[in-house]
Amino acid sequence: MKLVLLGPPGAGKGTQAATLQEKYQIPAISTGHIIRTAIREQTETGKLAEGYIARGELVPDDVVVELVRARLAERDCENGYILDGFPRTLAQAQIMDETGIGVDVVLNLEVEDEVLVERLSGRRECKKCGAAYHIAHNRPKVDGVCDSCGGELITRSDDVPEVIRKRLSVYHEMTESLKDYYRKQNKLMTVYGQDVVAETTRHVVEAIEKAEAAL
Ligand code: AMP
Repeated sequence: MKLVLLGPPGAGKGTQAATLQEKYQIPAISTGHIIRTAIREQTETGKLAEGYIARGELVPDDVVVELVRARLAERDCENGYILDGFPRTLAQAQIMDETGIGVDVVLNLEVEDEVLVERLSGRRECKKCGAAYHIAHNRPKVDGVCDSCGGELITRSDDVPEVIRKRLSVYHEMTESLKDYYRKQNKLMTVYGQDVVAETTRHVVEAIEKAEAAL
């Protein structure tokens, strides 16, 4: 299965991707995580992307497409993948279609902007594996330490109020139109994010199963 997770920052794409990765045994690929790793390692791509992430803007399409293409060429993607945070522009979606990067189902996670701001402000991320936590709703067993890999939990530099506002406006301006793009291709499934993560997961899995049955 080739799945795309669409939705604004803070909608829970990463959290759902982690669960779906386990359930379907296919890799979850987060472009944001790949880019943050490149920045930490100060690769050429990382240096180029740094300013965009810091401002809450999108990294140029050609740079992101190249990162995704390289990742999808790895063997673990042979049986499918979960794309978290890609595509994010119409141009990225069109390049995918033109170059044969397949998409079977696009799962659109809907959450209201006010809820997103609260979620993003309290979010913590593992510096090492990218796992997501929240200071109130999803605390780690030990404060500041990742449950799954023991890595240090940090606040992402783009999870601060001015950058959060910018990222939300970029989502509405650049990414939201992808809903129409995939609706026209009959690939869009919409799930409304719930307060309880497990409830959202239940709806997500139901939607995927329904979409798979129709493939
Ligand atoms: P995320 O971890 O998905 O919230 O992404 C964090 C940041 O990485 C975004 O605000 C963008 O600057 C950059 N980014 C991630 N995915 C993409 C993409 N598909 N296209 C452009 N920029 C991206």
